[in-house]
Amino acid sequence: MQDERTERDFTARSEEDQQAFIEQTWCDQCQQENLGMSNPREYLLKGIVFIEGDCNRCGGVVLTELTEDDF
Ligand SMILES: [Zn+2]
Repeated sequence: MQDERTERDFTARSEEDQQAFIEQTWCDQCQQENLGMSNPREYLLKGIVFIEGDCNRCGGVVLTELTEDDF
């Protein structure tokens, strides 16, 4: 399956939104929520918007999936 990402501008979101997305995370590796992420980036893949960043604890990739209601 080819990766068809469309980059989106995370920084175009309001400060409030950005802060919320950065803080409200779920890390599969830590099995813990709201550890926070660094280096956030945003992209569209198969009609779903993802906010991706690096877990503040383990440095692994954390993904937040946005449903259509969120954007
Ligand atoms: Zn983690």
